[in-house]
Amino acid sequence: MLMRTKPLFQLIYLGWLVFTLFACQKNLDPFGEVQKISLKASVSFLNADTSSRLPLAISVIDKAGNALNYPDSAIQIYANGVWQPDIQVRNNPYSPHAYYRSKQPGQISLQARWGPLISQPLILTARPKKTYPIIRLPVIFHIPQSLDLPKKGIVLKQVIAGVNQLYRDAMANSDPNHADSFIEFYLAATNPDGYPLLQAGLNQLDFDDPATNQASGAKVDSILAHWCIKQYVNIFVKINWEKGAHPVGSSFSYMPLYSVDPYPGDATCASLSKARAAIMIADENAFTFSVVAHELGHALGLGHTFGDCFWYTDDHVKDTPRQQEAHPDGTNQKQSCGGVYFLATNVMDYYNRRSGLTQDQVAVMRTIINYPTYLPIHVESSAGGRMGYRDVPPVVLIDCRE
Ligand SMILES: [Zn+2]
Repeated sequence: MLMRTKPLFQLIYLGWLVFTLFACQKNLDPFGEVQKISLKASVSFLNADTSSRLPLAISVIDKAGNALNYPDSAIQIYANGVWQPDIQVRNNPYSPHAYYRSKQPGQISLQARWGPLISQPLILTARPKKTYPIIRLPVIFHIPQSLDLPKKGIVLKQVIAGVNQLYRDAMANSDPNHADSFIEFYLAATNPDGYPLLQAGLNQLDFDDPATNQASGAKVDSILAHWCIKQYVNIFVKINWEKGAHPVGSSFSYMPLYSVDPYPGDATCASLSKARAAIMIADENAFTFSVVAHELGHALGLGHTFGDCFWYTDDHVKDTPRQQEAHPDGTNQKQSCGGVYFLATNVMDYYNRRSGLTQDQVAVMRTIINYPTYLPIHVESSAGGRMGYRDVPPVVLIDCRE
């Protein structure tokens, strides 16, 4: 039959034969050229439940240090020495190669195997979810005179509802460490004199942003002296006392943790106002639940999830992937410094579709809430405007990963 085909087809057939022989050779003995299998996870923690899944990256490295392609399903995953037949390893170029789930809390030693080759153990910790007492924080939005919220289609209730969904982990967040913060925000119902506000959470100002930072700062100081940070989370929209210090369109936030007083106990509303512990939302375009939730995260002690892979900087929160500042791909995925793809859902990330927080981010915020600070939380001690109970031990903020 080969003799009767045209020369071109003979050549194709011959090529196919050689390819098949070579491919068979590779499948029969792929290990001669392979140096090692590497197994990485986006982070070392995951929720112990049925839904959370930790993205994994599995690479096969040849003796020259190059990554090799490997057949789908050739590699098997072992947890504490036991084969996990449910974990399918796929050699996807732009997404995780596999996921790990654990219903049980505890430490897991994960390994990838291909024939006689076995990866170094990857130590993971599956953690049960935590609960905390619910904390509710009153929010007041200071809106410039000429910003007509209904005209711009901005509804404060909707903004706060979105923030609360995110903070209460109700957004179908797929992060392996997604967590409920048990923190809720509500639109303040009364003004500092105790009278009901015309619209909850709204203080429509009788001026627009002054031209200079000094003039804007003076306005903000006088507002904060009245709308005390012990009573409200203050959010200014388009009243920018740091013009020129940030890129146009950037919002920013200061934690209500520091005062200008030498002794924190001496702090009064007037002296606290000088620290300008408030949030500034740049403009109506930034007036979304996503940006407000992000700035509230800063106000409660969180940093950005990204840092610098080379200098090994990041948010010092151990269950968020260490990553470079980057745009996600079309499916909201990013890559960790270790090259593991993950869905970028974190509220403290940039450019992503934000839908939640992690367990350790929640631990940071709950520590800020539980330790002396000037958040508008119901006073349960004689500490003068500070939180009374301290049921959460300090979290370790610095941890080395990957
Ligand atoms: Zn930020």
